[in-house]
Amino acid sequence: MNPLKKRIGVLGGGQLGRMMIEETLRLNVTFNILENDKDCPCAPICDTFMEGSLMDEAKIRELAAISDVLTWEIEHVNTDVLLALAAEGKEIIPAPSVLKIIQDKGLQKQFYFDHQIPTGAFFLVQTEEEWFEAIEKLPGSKFVAKTRKGGYDGKGVAILSKYDILNRLEPIPFEGPCLLEAFVPCEKELAVIVARDREGNMVSYPSIEMEFDPEANLVTLLLSPARIGSIIEEKAKQIARDVVAAFNSPGLFAVEMFLDPEGNLFVNEVAPRAHNSGHHTIEACYTSQFEQLTRILLGLPLGSTELIQPAAMLNLLGAKDFSGSYKLDKLHEVSKLPGVYVHLYAKKESKPMRKMGHVCLMAPNLPELLEKAAYVSKHLVFVKD
Ligand code: ADP
Repeated sequence: MNPLKKRIGVLGGGQLGRMMIEETLRLNVTFNILENDKDCPCAPICDTFMEGSLMDEAKIRELAAISDVLTWEIEHVNTDVLLALAAEGKEIIPAPSVLKIIQDKGLQKQFYFDHQIPTGAFFLVQTEEEWFEAIEKLPGSKFVAKTRKGGYDGKGVAILSKYDILNRLEPIPFEGPCLLEAFVPCEKELAVIVARDREGNMVSYPSIEMEFDPEANLVTLLLSPARIGSIIEEKAKQIARDVVAAFNSPGLFAVEMFLDPEGNLFVNEVAPRAHNSGHHTIEACYTSQFEQLTRILLGLPLGSTELIQPAAMLNLLGAKDFSGSYKLDKLHEVSKLPGVYVHLYAKKESKPMRKMGHVCLMAPNLPELLEKAAYVSKHLVFVKD
């Protein structure tokens, strides 16, 4: 089939889907979107918009019927329907079996352990007795509890004191199946994005360093390449490729890792889709993460992942003090700077800490990049319109 005539069906209509469409409209690609919210970022720019739940079997089948290949831009979808469609011969990338593992943080962690991927010690628990037994065995004074399903952007994650829980000074924060992990003293949080085509060829992007807002648990500043030595860079890339090889599926994968002070790397989690940590690739790499995924879906060769210049990315989050119609303060001043690219996601209303857009910044060297990022992050803020 002519690759440029393939119709791509995407489950989810958020900003990740929007950027994928923006990036590949120039290839004449057709995008069909299924999403609950008819005001979502993809709705104004996709070919066919279907309003419906990502859990609704009939709607997913309707999307499949008008698309040659399916993918998703969010993990909270009906995987059983995707598995059934794949068994019926529908092309779905990545393989829905990957999603089945990723959707459950417990299965995901067990998968890394079973495939000798470095990851911290962990226990899968449910009852109070299991919690207490596991906490006794975890090293250190702190540990991390995560709900196995349904969490995102740090919701369903708690860093807890062993002493406080064991002595009932703090209640167990979550009900139902949970993952308890050793707390990793983290020097840096890193991500490596890996793309794998249908033949099993893989390419990885230069490592990415992420800084989080501890309150919102969202990436606020990202730098690529990460400020790590070449030995750790190579090690991180190797681990990321090992993880993707273990999943044995084509697709785009963001492998998030912790680097401890001794230089050890631990895989935290994998996003089997385009990821917030890869937005800078639109301007800063020869092939963006979004184009890369489209190439895989169309059966085209993987593109170069080389960085053109050191890059930074700032998420533009909704201001904490208002909700509603918005504008960007200092947009004029920021627009005069070279190598600064403002992206907005067409969200109708700003809400506190909501991901509204991002800025990609490029500079010939790190000091200039950091100076530019500090200026933009201080001045480019949402205000009421
Ligand atoms: P989510 O999937 O909601 O983003 P994560 O599993 O990535 O949740 O955890 C959110 C954040 O919590 C991480 O980015 C990291 O800062 C911290 N964290 C998670 N697990 C650990 C751990 N084992 N040790 C130390 N910090 C952790």
